[in-house]
Amino acid sequence: MTASSDSPVLIAGGGIGGLAAALALSKAGIASHVLERRADFTEAGAGIQIGPNGTRILEAIGAASWLREHVAAPDALQVRDALTGEKITRMPLGGWIAKRHGSPYWTMHRQDLHAALLQAARAASNITLTTGTTAEAVTQSTTGVTLRCAESGATLAGRALIAADGLWSTLRAKHFDPAPAHPTGKNAYRTVIPVSSLPEGLAVNDAHIWLTAGAHVVHYPVRAGREHAFVIIFEEPQHTLGWSTHVEAAFVRARAQRLAPSLRVLLEAGENWRVWSLHELAMPQRWSDGRIGLLGDAAHPVLPFLAQGAVLALEDASVLAYELSHSSGSVSGALTRYEDKRRARALRVQSASRRNGRIYHLAGTLAKARDKVLRRSPATLLMRQYDWLYGWKPPA
Ligand SMILES: Cc1cc2nc3c(=O)[nH]c(=O)nc-3n(C[C@H](O)[C@H](O)[C@H](O)COP(=O)(O)OP(=O)(O)OC[C@H]3O[C@@H](n4cnc5c(N)ncnc54)[C@H](O)[C@@H]3O)c2cc1C
Repeated sequence: MTASSDSPVLIAGGGIGGLAAALALSKAGIASHVLERRADFTEAGAGIQIGPNGTRILEAIGAASWLREHVAAPDALQVRDALTGEKITRMPLGGWIAKRHGSPYWTMHRQDLHAALLQAARAASNITLTTGTTAEAVTQSTTGVTLRCAESGATLAGRALIAADGLWSTLRAKHFDPAPAHPTGKNAYRTVIPVSSLPEGLAVNDAHIWLTAGAHVVHYPVRAGREHAFVIIFEEPQHTLGWSTHVEAAFVRARAQRLAPSLRVLLEAGENWRVWSLHELAMPQRWSDGRIGLLGDAAHPVLPFLAQGAVLALEDASVLAYELSHSSGSVSGALTRYEDKRRARALRVQSASRRNGRIYHLAGTLAKARDKVLRRSPATLLMRQYDWLYGWKPPA
């Protein structure tokens, strides 16, 4: 099959980035074909936070209307000491951040986010979705790309290939940079608990972060406030490669013995724990090569300490669609402009996330100094420091 300017954009990976890219392209009138290697589109049972810079894109690509009934919009972010349980500060989210940035801060179950994207993609006549198909290798010519699928050996023609195949992207390794991601020495343990398990005082519509030396805990409402999603990050030497390796609840409880009693009560309610080792990757020198481009974690995995990896993928999707729909026929020119517009932003978010991770896990006098600054600073001032992040707007 030969590619032409009418051929769809091929997208390898039907995660948040790949589906968002398909939807953004669809809104711009560009057809796409998403290839997902998994047999279906099921997502792991964990939570995800989407700040205003992401929710405005969910709205624009048609994924927000169904989702609105299923998310929570926490009123504030409480910062607590994970050993004593003491509240250090409470920074505004809810109406304050929605008004400041013109779009809400949502917390949700990953399955709900994925379901919303999938529903919108299924409803779009110019998006084709194929599961159980691994994008294996791609070649390109002056008119298009040819992608080989691993399972069948079949080839597909497209006007471009967007590799949205995640942190372990084989297409990045083959076509851009073979360097693998490396473990950071931090593991994220995740589960979801019913809201009825929250002790009095914590049963509020707030997101929480609990800090201590070498560890932190984040939890927030999901499923329209009926459940709370948990992430505990511990610094520890062993690591796994899977996205959701099962862990016994007893193991997590034993690791949490030194934490505040109120926090341990919460953690004891968690049953179905999964662990994901956090990895880092130096950003490849290039994200685009002619008609091939990288998007989301495949281009710029982000440590989760700013809750922005998926949001960056949503931002990528909106810029990609804008550039391809304003390209006057030059796909490679559009992909180069997409990369140029996204690189500095992704580097800044990566660096800010890494810095947050260091601050969260401080020990001794440095931790005391951090808490003093947090206690003394006006809560709105603390949040205004993130205007550069949450105030990002897609090109129009
Ligand atoms: C503990 C933790 C908490 C996080 N919390 C947040 C948060 O609160 N907010 C936030 O914005 N981000 C968060 N993130 C980051 C976020 O999960 C990722 O940035 C996001 O999932 C990246 O999406 P993606 O589509 O680029 O990649 P992925 O979600 O990894 O999707 C890639 C898809 O490609 C498929 N695939 C892989 N290879 C192939 C192939 N060759 N052919 C076809 N398909 C293929 C995979 O099966 C998968 O479906 C968190 C991450 C972690 C680890």
